[in-house]
Amino acid sequence: MTRVFHRQLHADYPVAVEGDGCYILDSTGKRYLDASGGAAVSCLGHSDPAVIEAITAQVRKLPFAHTGFFTNEPMEALAEALTDAAPGPLDHVYFVSGGSEAVEAALKMARQYFLEIGQPSRSRLIARRQSYHGNTLGALAAGGNQWRRAQFEPMLIEVSHVAPCYEYRDRRADETAEQYGARLAAELEAEILRLGPETVAAFIAEPVVGATAGALPPVPGYFRRIREVCDKYGVLLILDEVMCGMGRTGSLFAYEQEGIVPDLVTVAKGLGAGYQPIGAVLVHDRLYDAFRDGTGFFQHGHTYMGHATACAAALAVQHRLSEPGMMAEVQAKGAAVMDALRDRLGDHPHVGDIRGRGLFLGLELVADRVSRQPFDPAKRLHARLKKAALARGLMIYPMGGTIDGRTGDHALLAPPFILSEAQVGELVDKLAASLTDVFAEVA
Ligand code: PLP
Repeated sequence: MTRVFHRQLHADYPVAVEGDGCYILDSTGKRYLDASGGAAVSCLGHSDPAVIEAITAQVRKLPFAHTGFFTNEPMEALAEALTDAAPGPLDHVYFVSGGSEAVEAALKMARQYFLEIGQPSRSRLIARRQSYHGNTLGALAAGGNQWRRAQFEPMLIEVSHVAPCYEYRDRRADETAEQYGARLAAELEAEILRLGPETVAAFIAEPVVGATAGALPPVPGYFRRIREVCDKYGVLLILDEVMCGMGRTGSLFAYEQEGIVPDLVTVAKGLGAGYQPIGAVLVHDRLYDAFRDGTGFFQHGHTYMGHATACAAALAVQHRLSEPGMMAEVQAKGAAVMDALRDRLGDHPHVGDIRGRGLFLGLELVADRVSRQPFDPAKRLHARLKKAALARGLMIYPMGGTIDGRTGDHALLAPPFILSEAQVGELVDKLAASLTDVFAEVA
């Protein structure tokens, strides 16, 4: 009998015992193609020799030194690598241990920034409905995922939510993509005005939405409009790249493709690529300077922040991601997976949309392609699909049509960047077969 308090208390989890490139092996020897990188984590697969070597060397030299006493070499080097790579004056990095911690730190940093610059009335946050920013209470309050939030209402902090950029469901037939993006930015502006601009600290959004919407990219120009609105009212723009950052969309940072510079960017998942738990917040110089010239202290901190071994792993991951041609490879492989999905599933009666960017791809499943009617959430289609895929030796990351009653079930794909051509075929074959299995049960 297990002593572990598992995620699902009645699930029968296979025991993962070994990683081999894009595969995880369980204790029976069964191989699973990891087409979701867990939850968009394992961008380099499960056995990268350079990352393993960096971790081993760091543990031998210095596993950990508390950042209340010391800085350390891998943390300094990682901060340099990230800030050199990030376009715009995002020249400082705050290290934490994961995505939720990164979001918490960013939210508190936004709040304290306004205290530092003498605007104490700015404490409110605006987020979007189709979003997930983490499971700690502050991050959960920011996210719009009703399934995750519902039983914890009322939230400790109140956050307003505006519409996500969800072209497949929300763009009207009589508007262009640009007009749609402008309409959404106008909605954000109206919300800022309703709350009172002098009370709003920040707007937070995922550039490409992951867990709640299945790799949902913005329409062109959307984030430029959003940036303009934020600037007009002195509101900070926090981009949550915990899932879509670190090369996943074909550029190291997803915001690079939007032609804007955010004030704060959160990253995690692909930062440590699963080899170590680590997250970070990249901070605009303007904010850093306000802290430096103000109290000189961010009222925050965690025991494991800047963990030397985690930073050494993430630095080795950065070296791999910055190898010449790596981002071009993500783009090319992303296009190959997209083409294969469209070829095989483009006419599937229950695949409503195939979308994404780079190697961050999603399918939205619908009961009816014409009306785009989602399946009844009670059918738990996403859970059936995950189970069917696992039975066939495929890891994908499906989520349900439980977000706000209008979203179809979807499946997120985020395979390692080392995916081979043969593995693209294996992925699509197994996914198509899993869908067949599921729709044989649920017609
Ligand atoms: N933000 C985004 C966009 C995420 O997708 C996630 C996790 O899926 C988080 C934050 C929370 O990250 P973590 O699970 O590492 O706390």
